[in-house]
Amino acid sequence: MAEIGEPAYRARQILAWAYERRARDFAAMTDLPAALRAALEARLDVRTGTEVARSTAPGGTVKLLLRWFDGLTTESVMIPAPGAERRRTICVSTQVGCDVGCRFCASGIGGSLRNLSVGEVLEQTLAAADLLAERGERLSHVVFMGMGEPLANYDVTVEAVRRMSADWGLGIGQRRITVSTVGLPKQIDRLAEEGLRATLALSLHAPNDELRAQLIPWAEGISLAALLPACRRYLDKTGREVTLEYCLLAGVNDLREHAAELARTARDLRAHVNLLMYNPVEGLPYERPSRNRAIGFLKDLRAAGARAHLRESRGLEADAACGQLRRRSASA
Ligand code: SF4
Repeated sequence: MAEIGEPAYRARQILAWAYERRARDFAAMTDLPAALRAALEARLDVRTGTEVARSTAPGGTVKLLLRWFDGLTTESVMIPAPGAERRRTICVSTQVGCDVGCRFCASGIGGSLRNLSVGEVLEQTLAAADLLAERGERLSHVVFMGMGEPLANYDVTVEAVRRMSADWGLGIGQRRITVSTVGLPKQIDRLAEEGLRATLALSLHAPNDELRAQLIPWAEGISLAALLPACRRYLDKTGREVTLEYCLLAGVNDLREHAAELARTARDLRAHVNLLMYNPVEGLPYERPSRNRAIGFLKDLRAAGARAHLRESRGLEADAACGQLRRRSASA
């Protein structure tokens, strides 16, 4: 606004139109002078996404496929907490596809085509908020755990966290925002210096370097000896607990010795372990462990002194594995 000689309060007005009133173009911003609306339209390109597919699971989980201005698509998933709990979480993507190439993941197939913009990440959040508003509910949490490696799109991730939490933005407290990463030590150190209060979630998925390198090709050059101290520094600097995400793959990383190794790491880091049940992906050789096996793994972790939870997967029916809806839609 300063650049075009307008008073600063106009910026607030525009932000309120974008975030509170969900205007999708400048023409809708009727309390701005017509000349200003025309000037903005001439200077700026408004690129809104379009919902092209939606799948809903019985528990209320909704997966959205959004198409961007260039025809590329990404997935976002709105996950309600079970029962009367009011937590409503959106899982956002940060890239179209992903270069990390985790062997068990559909999103990694084909690599990353491009980074999403801050606006595109925010728009996923707004789409979830709108969907919830139709049901009389409110979005409460955001997790950066969709398609892509958030710290490989670092500036966008940090700016998106700031705007989500800004009072003029979505007003979601930073403590309710989780940034996940497969583990890039330099970026974790940078993130610790941003002055944010977001939770860091490390996608560990294996308790030692050897198995990790098999499951996560990117991890081959990043040892746990480099990664875990960076997580520790994040905890020390921000006071925010690091969580360890661990996706259980039957017969691969769910053995008792794996639980013992993982518990040691969690204790050292004072981290909480989130166990996830794998959602099988067609064409990939991994399977979901039995519920008994998962509970046995959880018990072993706790017996070894680690804090851990088993996150129930809601919505196997809804193309639940990351990247499934996108793949299915692409081949339809
Ligand atoms: S699990 Fe996440 S980091 Fe790994 S390939 Fe899939 S989207 Fe990328």
